Amino acid sequence: MRLIEMEITRQDWKEMSCGCGNTAEHLAGYLLQLAGRGPEQRPINVSFEGHVWSPAALWEPAPSVTAVALAALADDVAPIARGWFLDLLHCMVAGEGTELPQRCRALAGQGIWLLYEEVMSNRSPGVAGDAFEILAVIEPDRARLRRVREIAAEWLPVCCRTGQCDDEFDGSGLV
Ligand SMILES: [Zn+2]
Ligand SMILES: [Zn+2]
Repeated sequence: MRLIEMEITRQDWKEMSCGCGNTAEHLAGYLLQLAGRGPEQRPINVSFEGHVWSPAALWEPAPSVTAVALAALADDVAPIARGWFLDLLHCMVAGEGTELPQRCRALAGQGIWLLYEEVMSNRSPGVAGDAFEILAVIEPDRARLRRVREIAAEWLPVCCRTGQCDDEFDGSGLV
């Protein structure tokens, strides 16, 4: 058992209601598939929309999914799956208002150096930008974020490089 399986088994999925109306139990299987640890033994791009997030809201399993996504980044998963977990994490922290997005942002804040590592290592196209945009939401130390933006400017997408995607979070009291 590795980090991602460990974190999945720690969550009480059965007790949570999924956005689809079932219990969240089936999400454990989805997360394993995303990581490439499902029955197919290769990463499968499973959508969590309608289960954990929608454009309007997050559902109850969101903090657990956030915790698993962080464990996935710390684990040895394929580059394509890392990108998917970052996308998922982005959906978890970018939600507005309510209690759930705030809990997700607090959890993601515990993994801040994993996200900086994704920005700096620039493993595959798009991944550094995804990680940077999550940091733009959760990083309370804006000076650190700007410094990393300067260092990573060469490979960050234009929206991150110009500060377009982090200015709106500056001083907004998030986290
Ligand atoms: Zn569901
Ligand atoms: Zn950006």
